[in-house]
Amino acid sequence: MTVSWIPHRFAGGVLALDTANTVVLRGDPERTFDRFEDPDEIARFADAAATFRAAELGGRALAVSAPRRIAPVVLAIREATDRLFRGAATGGAAAADDLAAFLRACATGLDGSKERLGAPGRPFGDAATPIAFEAALAVSALSLLSGVTMARLRICPNCNWLFLDRSRNASRLWCDMAVCGNRRKASRHYHRRKAAWEVDNV
Ligand SMILES: [Zn+2]
Repeated sequence: MTVSWIPHRFAGGVLALDTANTVVLRGDPERTFDRFEDPDEIARFADAAATFRAAELGGRALAVSAPRRIAPVVLAIREATDRLFRGAATGGAAAADDLAAFLRACATGLDGSKERLGAPGRPFGDAATPIAFEAALAVSALSLLSGVTMARLRICPNCNWLFLDRSRNASRLWCDMAVCGNRRKASRHYHRRKAAWEVDNV
């Protein structure tokens, strides 16, 4: 079954967190699942992400030429990103060994790329051509390392996704109020967290 890459699945706020959130219900071993289990979903995700993350990407399209070939690199960056920033969101600081693993994973995404990155107004390079998804993922992930961003990292108490809280007073609780906020409010079993979690629309 193919995944519908609806706007809710881009609630992370940046490409790297949206990618981290392609594993749903992390921390729940019985219910967690991976939307990239079929590597072809990486290409479909990238198509949707080019639209939903157009502002971050400077309008650059994302290229996935061989999903099966890049899947190990993508999953390595994804897992290292989740580990580092989940730890930072929970503990308020990044663990050095997680950071080292994260930097190595990001390096594999950029290795061999001929891109020119970080020019003013062009963080992901020239929008005239697509950028390889794994390279863009690495750039997005590395952009999270600033202290300002770290202070805005949150974990949704309903679905366990990571997201950036860009609200003015930094008080956002849910990844997506319309989905997780309402679902949790509607639950009659608020205290039975597992029972309250619903997977279908996460
Ligand atoms: Zn959520």
